[in-house]
Amino acid sequence: MRVSIVGTGYVGLVSAVGLAEVGHHVTCVDVDAQKVHLINQGVAPIFENGLDTLLKRNVGVRLWATCDLEAAVLGSDLTLIAVGTPFDGEHINLAQIRQAASQIGEALGHKSRYHVVSVKSTVVPGTTTGVVLPILEERSAKKAGVDFGVGMTPEFLREGDAVADFMSPDRIVLGGIDERSQDALAELYAPFVADKIRTNPTTAEMIKYTTNSLLATLISFSNEIANLCAAVGVDVVDVQRGVHLDKRFSPIQADGDRIWPASLRYLEAGCGFGGSCFPKDVKALIAFGRDAGNPMRVLESVIGVNEAQPAQMLRLLRKHLPDLRGLNVAVLGMAFKPGTDDIRESPSLAVTRSLLGEGAVVKAFDPIARREAEKVLGGCVKFVDSLESALDDVAAVMIMTRWQEFERLPELIAALPRPPLVLDGRRMLAKDSVARYEGIGL
Ligand code: NAD
Repeated sequence: MRVSIVGTGYVGLVSAVGLAEVGHHVTCVDVDAQKVHLINQGVAPIFENGLDTLLKRNVGVRLWATCDLEAAVLGSDLTLIAVGTPFDGEHINLAQIRQAASQIGEALGHKSRYHVVSVKSTVVPGTTTGVVLPILEERSAKKAGVDFGVGMTPEFLREGDAVADFMSPDRIVLGGIDERSQDALAELYAPFVADKIRTNPTTAEMIKYTTNSLLATLISFSNEIANLCAAVGVDVVDVQRGVHLDKRFSPIQADGDRIWPASLRYLEAGCGFGGSCFPKDVKALIAFGRDAGNPMRVLESVIGVNEAQPAQMLRLLRKHLPDLRGLNVAVLGMAFKPGTDDIRESPSLAVTRSLLGEGAVVKAFDPIARREAEKVLGGCVKFVDSLESALDDVAAVMIMTRWQEFERLPELIAALPRPPLVLDGRRMLAKDSVARYEGIGL
C-alpha cells in the first residue's frame, strides 16, 4: 500500500519505518524541515533501539520524507495522522490535529480516487468523528463514507521498546466509520500477526485512554502503598513480592512455573510516572469526563499521587542531610524511563529543579538523554559523561531512571573513600548493596 504519515515524531517515525519494513511505500510528512532532512539522510532525529537500522534499510527504497503534505496525500492511498496532542492545562489541545485535518482535507479536494484518513494520535473519544471528519468534509467538499474513508488506529508502542512493539504488536485496533475504511486499515496491518479488533473510531479512542489510565493507576496505587510502607516501617519490596505471588497476578502453569506478566512492572514502587503520554492522557480523560458530567475521581487521585511523588525523593534526602545549600548531589537518569531520550514530564526534572531551588549543586548523568536534558536544564546543572564522574565528590546520589548501567553503582561506590548516600527512586538496587541506602517505600 502507499501510505502517508503526517507528523514524524516518536509515533510517526517508528510507524513509518515499521510499515516500510513490511513492504508498504511510506511518505513521512512533517512541518519541521530539519527532521525531514535528517530522515532523508537515514538519520533518526530521536533515539530508539533499532530505529536507525530500520530507517537506513528503508530510506530511499520504500520510505521518503517531505514537508509537502499535499503531494504526499495525492501520492498515497491512506494517510495516518500522528501529530502531537498535548494537554493545555485544562483540556487536550487539538490544534495540531485540526491543522493536519485541514491540510489533508484540502489535498483530498484535489484527489479523484478514494482515500482513507486514519488518526493514530491519542485523541479523546469522539474526536475522529466529531472533529476530524467534519474538517475533512468541509475542506475537501466531499463526503465521508462515500468519497473517502475515516478511521482511528491508536498506537500502543512503548518508548524505549518502540520498534519492537510496533513490529510485534499485542493487538491492533482497527476503528473505522464503515466497513470500507476498516478494510483499508486491515490491509495496512495485514502483515502484522496480532489480535485485531474491528470497531468504530470512538471505541478505538476509548480503548487507548482506558489502557493508559489503567497502567497509570497501577503505578500511583503502588506508590501510595509504598509511601504508607515507609511511614510504618515496612519495606514495600517485601510487600510487593507477597502480592505478586498471588496466582491472579502471576499464574502458575501445569509444570509449576509461574508466568510473570509485564503488568507487574507497573505494580512496583518508584518516584512517579512521566513521559509524553500517561500524565497528559490521564489529565485529558479527567477533563473529558468532567465535561461529560462524569467526574473521574480515581484518575484525579492518580494524578495527585503522581505529582506529589518526586517530593518523596527530597524528603528522603532531607532526612539525612537537612540543609541542602551547597550540597553536591548527583542525579542519575534524566529520561522518564530507560531506553529513550525522551525527558518530557520526567520526574527527574521536578527533582532536579527542587534541588536547585534549595541551593544544592547538581551534577547529572544520563547515558542517552543528555542532549535533551541540556536543552532544558543546561547552565544550572553540570552534565557529565560517565557514572564514574557523576560519583566524584558528591554527598548523595539519586537514582531517577532505571537504566541498566546503574546496576554497576554498588561496585563503583564500594571503591570510593567516602561513599555517598544512595537514594533509589526506582528500587533497582538491593538495599544492602551499598553502605548508605534509602529508597522509595523503605
Ligand atoms: P511528537 O511531538 O514526538 O511528534 C509530533 C510531530 O508532528 C512533530 O514532529 C511535529 O513537528 C509534527 N507536526 C505537527 N503538526 C504537523 C502538521 N500539521 N503537519 C506535519 N507535521 C506536523 O509526538 P509523539 O510522541 O510522536 O506523539 C504523537 C501522538 O501519538 C500523540 O497523540 C501521542 O499521545 C500519541 N502516542 C505517543 C506515544 C509515545 O510513546 N510517544 C505512544 C502512543 C501514542
